[in-house]
Amino acid sequence: MARDQLSPDGLQRCLRYVDERRHQRLLLEGLAVQDPLTGIANRYGFLGVLKARLEEEAEGLVLGHLDLDNFRHVNDSLGYQHGDQLINQVAVRVKELLDPGDTLARLGSDEFALLLDTQEDPARAGRMATRIVDALAEPFRVDGESLLLGCSLGLARAEHDIEADPLMWHAHIAMRRAKTQSGCTFHIYDEWLNRSERNLADLETELRRALRRDELELHYQPRLCMQTGQVVGLEALVRWRHAERGLLGPNEFIPLAEDTGLIIPLGYWVIDRALRDLRWLLDRDVAPLHMAINLSFRQFQDSKLLPTLGRLIDERGIDPRWIEFELTETAVMRRTEQVIKTMKALRGLGVRFSLDDFGTGYSSFVHLSALPIALLKVDRSFVGGMASHPENRRLVRAMINLAHNLDLTVVAEGVETRDELALLRQFGCDQAQGYLISKPLPLAELARFLVFGARRGNLLADESAGG
Ligand code: C2E
Ligand code: MG
Ligand code: MG
Repeated sequence: MARDQLSPDGLQRCLRYVDERRHQRLLLEGLAVQDPLTGIANRYGFLGVLKARLEEEAEGLVLGHLDLDNFRHVNDSLGYQHGDQLINQVAVRVKELLDPGDTLARLGSDEFALLLDTQEDPARAGRMATRIVDALAEPFRVDGESLLLGCSLGLARAEHDIEADPLMWHAHIAMRRAKTQSGCTFHIYDEWLNRSERNLADLETELRRALRRDELELHYQPRLCMQTGQVVGLEALVRWRHAERGLLGPNEFIPLAEDTGLIIPLGYWVIDRALRDLRWLLDRDVAPLHMAINLSFRQFQDSKLLPTLGRLIDERGIDPRWIEFELTETAVMRRTEQVIKTMKALRGLGVRFSLDDFGTGYSSFVHLSALPIALLKVDRSFVGGMASHPENRRLVRAMINLAHNLDLTVVAEGVETRDELALLRQFGCDQAQGYLISKPLPLAELARFLVFGARRGNLLADESAGG
């Protein structure tokens, strides 16, 4: 009997052990739901709290989504350490304003969520929002410097039966609405919220469905060599065949896809379809062509880009040297170093790059010469006004010279008239793309265009004969 009994010392040790294990477990659980930088809840912890509170009593709860404006620039210019300090200060400022029944959490890099209890006092949400944005509008001190931040706060009231996800989405939409104003501002989501914003929410759901149901299509716009008059390349341009709204152009849904992250699956769909169609064309003996595919900045942040692309190229049996990716100037300039690194890795697969919409961003000569690109596409806004504006003529000529000095091939976008084509030839432009040659075409029509492509050579011949 005595053997089974613990001595007082043993009992103490045992209790201490149990206590330590409990403490460790709590610590681990805490880490899983806590943001290590600020000590407040993380996204996971916040969702737990939100779901529990909604189940208990949704009425009177207000969800806030706070996003700092241009925080990336702070990180880029001051470095991550100071960026972290700033995040911490934001958390402290907001937390000081909250009541014990409220919750503050950090959702991601510069995004916070708050849950306010306004059951007793419905007007409290508006007052709190004002106090929070006012507090964040005051200068911050980082690294001895005074710094002003912009922020956008979106609020959404919980109504009975609403679940966590739609409530988070409402707050997000309201935050985006606040973002359309500068400085520190807030916006409350309500039934009167402008229809276009609601359409945006609908559009996102529809776009997800469109991807699943294969409602997207690619049209191809040919690119001509100015010397031979031959089609030397195609640009893949995505469209959405919407059941009610007809054929939608990329400008109507690519920005939304970029905002919501849908651009990643959408982008892979585009790459896969373009390679498949190129295979189809090659199998029908059209001359080898470059296939240009537009890439968004977001796709460059996807760690799976390189392996997935490698796999797709293998699967479709395409020689990678015929694949070209178009990146816009603004995309490249956002995180030049990181983008160049990814570009170089992709180039290792054998693909090449072009700089799209050149002239609309801010690339300097230094930047340009550092980019691993093979082509430069002069934006159509310069090409368009060439015949009537001497200024545009001078700019296009300068861009062509600059590109040639850097050993880059120049493509003029948006060529619509014979006059423009004539000027471009005179300036030594290498390739042309635009409605004059052809609009973007569905695959079958494009195949027909390529077969009767000789006619395009005549177009150029007429031009040179005429002047
Ligand atoms: P972009 O890459 O600069 O593509 C050229 C745009 O100019 C296309 O518009 C094309 O239809 C239009 N265009 C071509 N020739 C002419 C012309 O002579 N006159 C005029 N006025 N326009 C001409 P689209 O198809 O509406 O595409 C708009 C933009 O959407 C593209 O600009 C590209 O940045 C983006 N985009 C298209 N497809 C994709 C895609 O698959 N992924 C991504 N990330 N972006 C895409
Ligand atoms: Mg393009
Ligand atoms: Mg372009």
